Amino acid sequence: MEQSLKIYTEHRKKLLAMQYVDFLIGWDTQTDAAENSIIADSAQMSVISEFSYKLSTDPQFESAVETLYARRDELDDVMRHEIETVYKNINDVKKIPIEEYTAYSQLSSQAYPVYVRAKTENNFELFRPYLEKIVEFCRKQTVWLATDKLQGYDVLLDMYEPHYTQAEYDKFFDVLRKRLVPFVRQRTAQPTVKPQWANQTFDANKQREFCEYLRDVMCFDKSRGIMKESEHPFTSGFGTDDVRITNHYYPDSLLSSVFSAIHETGHATYEQQVDPALNGTLSGGGASLGLHESQSRFYENMIGRSRAFWQAHFGKLQQVFAPQLDGVSPDEFMRYVNAVERSFVRTEADELTYPLHIMLRYEIEQKLICGELQVKDLPAYWNDKFTEYFGITPPTDTLGVLQDVHWAYGNFGYFPTYALGSAIAAQLYHAMNADFDVEASLADGTTARINEWLKSHVHKYGSSKYPDEILRLATGEDFDPEYYVDYLIGKYSAQ
Ligand SMILES: [Zn+2]
Repeated sequence: MEQSLKIYTEHRKKLLAMQYVDFLIGWDTQTDAAENSIIADSAQMSVISEFSYKLSTDPQFESAVETLYARRDELDDVMRHEIETVYKNINDVKKIPIEEYTAYSQLSSQAYPVYVRAKTENNFELFRPYLEKIVEFCRKQTVWLATDKLQGYDVLLDMYEPHYTQAEYDKFFDVLRKRLVPFVRQRTAQPTVKPQWANQTFDANKQREFCEYLRDVMCFDKSRGIMKESEHPFTSGFGTDDVRITNHYYPDSLLSSVFSAIHETGHATYEQQVDPALNGTLSGGGASLGLHESQSRFYENMIGRSRAFWQAHFGKLQQVFAPQLDGVSPDEFMRYVNAVERSFVRTEADELTYPLHIMLRYEIEQKLICGELQVKDLPAYWNDKFTEYFGITPPTDTLGVLQDVHWAYGNFGYFPTYALGSAIAAQLYHAMNADFDVEASLADGTTARINEWLKSHVHKYGSSKYPDEILRLATGEDFDPEYYVDYLIGKYSAQ
């Protein structure tokens, strides 16, 4: 046991060092590297990947993990959870036949450019044979990786959000279908009119200045993090002391950079507030995709789209862009940032209609994986369901079934975590409000009190527990989607 622990921790240092290399290269590629610097395809990259592969499949490491797993009851809570996770990862990889894995890797790299062409040319048939093979592989995966507790689509869901299976998601989406679909129909019956002032162009440097200000409002620790620019905003990091976010400034859209800044700083706050004692282990960072997204959406929607937030900060926005927003009131601005509209594209959807886009994808994935729906029938099925939920029909597959890249990457089971994140955010918001008046706490000009609550109830655990356990510790309850629908209907009835 002692010996195994020693081997494990020594080996973990090396794994973390390789992760650090990956993190730095990934960051550099997406921010500063010149367009033609092709490190991702370079000889150096293949040496690095080989190192990583050898490290993670090292027999001495694997046997240490096996010993520790067999005696996991003797480990402390953090180490036990970490060993369980590492053990599962090692064994899952082994269950996939190597020749199938290699063929699939080749298929993936071929599928992506075809997908891009199919989307650009609105030609689903071009992509269909690739998607058929991808779905076939995912169906096989559910057999190879099946356990007593996980079968079928649950195997894939668990890869992205441990412990959340169809039983939980079915309950979740049933509530959305029953309560939210009719509400959205009624709420979006009248088209929204974009106010005149929103049609101006907004100087990118001024947007940058205001986003810097927002990071201070959210108490982002600049001594342990930076913000740069990239094509699509994202957050990445290594431990609690090196957290990096990006943004993108479009002169014709002020809201895009403002809400990306709040969203990504939400992810970053989670990373910065993990217990620093977890640095140097594999138990740092966020607990899951859904829980991470719950934090970014919490700040973006519950806080960043609230009346109290704009009462405190609209004056600063007006000042930065003076005189462009003179004559606009904080309430008018708040209504604009909460405008709702039925739209075809998920990534452009507002807070209220967003989860319905995910519900559609969940239902489709469920049927595709169990074989009830075939890839060839996908565009027609998509359009039918879309019309049922939104009351409008996508005019093209580009605006329909081809809009997202996830399936081209074989990421079946990923989408539901997006909606789960928003729903968990609403449940946390309810629990936080039971402790103190969240909107009133914004009057001091920062989110300090909110950060503190999230740190002690969610962030400090890092990934040392499962996401459902953390939610239970934070709220005293299991996941309950009614909080989310109550929140949405309450908020959007009032406007
Ligand atoms: Zn996010």
